[in-house]
Amino acid sequence: SGEDIRADMIDDIARKHYPACARNLHENLRRDRHLKHFGRLQYGLFLKGLGLSIEEALLFWRRSFSKFTDDQFNKSYKYNIRHSYGLEGGRRNYPPKSCQQILTQDQPGAGDNHGCPFRHFSTDNLESALLAWYSPHGLTQDDLDEVTKIVKAGHYHVACTRVFELTHAAQGVKKGEGVSGDSVSHPNQYAAKSRELEK
Ligand code: SF4
Repeated sequence: SGEDIRADMIDDIARKHYPACARNLHENLRRDRHLKHFGRLQYGLFLKGLGLSIEEALLFWRRSFSKFTDDQFNKSYKYNIRHSYGLEGGRRNYPPKSCQQILTQDQPGAGDNHGCPFRHFSTDNLESALLAWYSPHGLTQDDLDEVTKIVKAGHYHVACTRVFELTHAAQGVKKGEGVSGDSVSHPNQYAAKSRELEK
C-alpha cells in the first residue's frame, strides 16, 4: 500500500476515490460534524480498510466531531473507535463491511447516513448526489439516465460499477471492465482500485 494515509489526506481521497456509500458518510460528517452509530461504524471500518492507523483514525474522528469537547469525545466515542480496531472488549478485529452487508444489514432510517445510496436513496436524491460528487470526474446527465435504469432494475452494485467505469474513463477503464474485471463487491475494493489508477 506504500505511503501511509494521514487524517489530513482524507478530504482529498474522498473527493477523488470514494464510492457513493463512503462519500455520503463523509459529506454528512463534514456537514453535521457528527454521524450516528451505524454511520460511524460503517465509515470507521471503511477508513480502517483504506489504511488509516488507529492513531490517525482517532485524530480524524476527533477533528471531525468538532462540536464536542475533548471530554465528551473521549467519553462517548474513543472506546468505540478503538474497539473497531480490535483494541478493546473482545479484541476482535472487525473487517470493513462488504456491499452485500451494507445492502442487507441495519436498514437506515430517517437521519441515518449509512447504507448504500444506490439502494437507499430516492431516485431524485441519488441523481443529484451522484451529479454533485461525480460530475467533476466526467459523469454526465446521459450517464445518470443509464445508471438510474440499472438501479430501477435492482442491480445496485452493477450501477455502482458503472459509475466507477464512467468516472475512470480518462484512466482507460472501459464499459464492462469494472474493477479489474469484476463488479464492485466492496467499497474498499472500489477506493483501492481508484487510487491505483491515479498513480
Ligand atoms: Fe458502496 Fe457497494 Fe453501494 Fe457501491 S454498491 S455504494 S461500494 S455499498
